[in-house]
Amino acid sequence: MLMGSLSFSSWAQPDRWQQRVKYTMNIDMNVLTNQFTGKQKLEYTNNSPDTLTKVFYHLYFNAFQPGSMMDTRSRRQGGVNGAGARPDWDGRVKDRIINLKPNEIGYQKIVSLKMNGRPQAFTMLETILEVKLDKPILPKSKVVFDMDFEAQVPLQVRRSGRDNPISKVRYSMSQWYPKLCEYDYEGWHPTPYVGREFYGVWGDFDVSISIDKKYILGGSGYLQNPNKIGYGYEDKGAKVNRPAGDKLTWRFIAPNVHDFMWAADPEYIHVSKKLRDSLTIHLLYKKTNEAEKDWLNLLDMAEKALPFIEKTFGQYPYKQFSFIHGGDGGMEYPMATLCIGPGAGLHEWMHSWYYGLLGTNESLYPWMDEGFTQYAEERVAAFLNNNTGFAQGDNYASYFSLVRSGKEEPLTTHADHYNLNAAYSPAVYSKGAVFMEQLGYIVGAPARDKILLEYYRQWRFKHPTSSDFMRVAEKVSDMKLDWYKEYWINSTKTIDYSIDSLWEEGGKTKVRLMRTGLMPMPIDLQITLKDGSKELHYIPMNLMYGEKPAEDAAIPRKVYAPWKWTHSTYIIETTKRLADFTLVEIDPSLRMADVERKNNKLELKW
Ligand SMILES: [Zn+2]
Repeated sequence: MLMGSLSFSSWAQPDRWQQRVKYTMNIDMNVLTNQFTGKQKLEYTNNSPDTLTKVFYHLYFNAFQPGSMMDTRSRRQGGVNGAGARPDWDGRVKDRIINLKPNEIGYQKIVSLKMNGRPQAFTMLETILEVKLDKPILPKSKVVFDMDFEAQVPLQVRRSGRDNPISKVRYSMSQWYPKLCEYDYEGWHPTPYVGREFYGVWGDFDVSISIDKKYILGGSGYLQNPNKIGYGYEDKGAKVNRPAGDKLTWRFIAPNVHDFMWAADPEYIHVSKKLRDSLTIHLLYKKTNEAEKDWLNLLDMAEKALPFIEKTFGQYPYKQFSFIHGGDGGMEYPMATLCIGPGAGLHEWMHSWYYGLLGTNESLYPWMDEGFTQYAEERVAAFLNNNTGFAQGDNYASYFSLVRSGKEEPLTTHADHYNLNAAYSPAVYSKGAVFMEQLGYIVGAPARDKILLEYYRQWRFKHPTSSDFMRVAEKVSDMKLDWYKEYWINSTKTIDYSIDSLWEEGGKTKVRLMRTGLMPMPIDLQITLKDGSKELHYIPMNLMYGEKPAEDAAIPRKVYAPWKWTHSTYIIETTKRLADFTLVEIDPSLRMADVERKNNKLELKW
């Protein structure tokens, strides 16, 4: 169910098919060797109209071996473009993989794999397992894969691993199990693990982890045997009744997610807070240099922010969320995050919406998970800080700086294939966030907010693409917006409008505007007069086939015929005398990402 009421819910849920998985895994962890064995039963439903003759799995841990694609890419990224090109390493990876010793590398080895009880032939291709099936999987049918595998947890380099050098957390267990690749309308997505972003099949997880009794776990899913575990998970007032033996088996169930993460450490401090009957927030952290109160503040922050978040972005549908100390930086997973410190908590939590629930293919649309999350984070932070000003200024500044660098690559670039690390983050995070704020400039902030909720309503628990988002935006705003995606996402063309000239003619004052940049936009032009009054002159852009409603009832607005995108100038007029003007300004809201703002504003001193 959606919080709040929507008056525009007449569009059907999309009927695109998607595959379905149900994982049942039994994991036996040896904390002395850092190796574990796994039995994985995978029920796979082929909802596609296609006959599948092979399947692919991700084997992410194999990236943490000298000479791997991730190793090679991390050491050479950016340095491959001819003489003098500066290496642009991921500061967290650098040359750490090539220096891993045999007991420090990561691996996932497949011992056996059966489909419906019959052994299957498979080929290990580093981080991808290719399985050529002995019999095809027919459309609309279900098969069961049974796999035995062995794995070694790598010394933590990137996201997952053991014995994090900073947090000292023993196990950050993300990308840790053989995970079926997604098959969608574009076919298989066997993306080798070289660095960035993920894509998973929607389904259910039932994971039992046997591990040394002293370890405390957190992660995706709901613990099924809390009173046999304790460590703060037990029911209120319940007596903890641990079975005999050196190990405890933690059983988690995670319904309707596309990945499963866990973490373990004997020194975790576990605190939780119940926000409502159906939602508990867990916090697992280690006492390190990080101020303890900043970790604990995450629980208060979550409680305070949740009503605003759900009203703005849609309901959080799961029964728990866990903030967990580990990993590097912050990384999002269903129902949980791994963070090196508490500062990343809000950002990672907002990924529950843009990643967790709206499960875009992050390799293809990293700006839809990172950019939208970045946008959401800034909005929630502004709410928490009672900041009513312009909340997205840092994202605009970062985008402008990227443009100035001359290193920008289009947002359609596959996350792994950005040439430079330095071009990836400002594009995906900042330009992606600007996309959303600027959409509010084009369609109006109230319509943009309705788009966010309708996008959630139609596409939660699915794999929306950029076109899916644009269609929701078009339906809600009643405008054509394909041009916005073509320019902002598919190209690196920039926006630059200027005030060209002002003059009086026939008892009117005229202002000529000029488009210098290649990307066309609708224009808000505000004129301020000596008596302090303001006029807004609004020029829609012709490809919109619509106009945004007035945003500020206090300022009279004149709406013009659309500015044709082929035309470089446009003249507006007012009956006010030029001598009464004090300020003429294009987009005083600063939401239009004009790369040269100096010529947007003309102060008149008489
Ligand atoms: Zn993020």
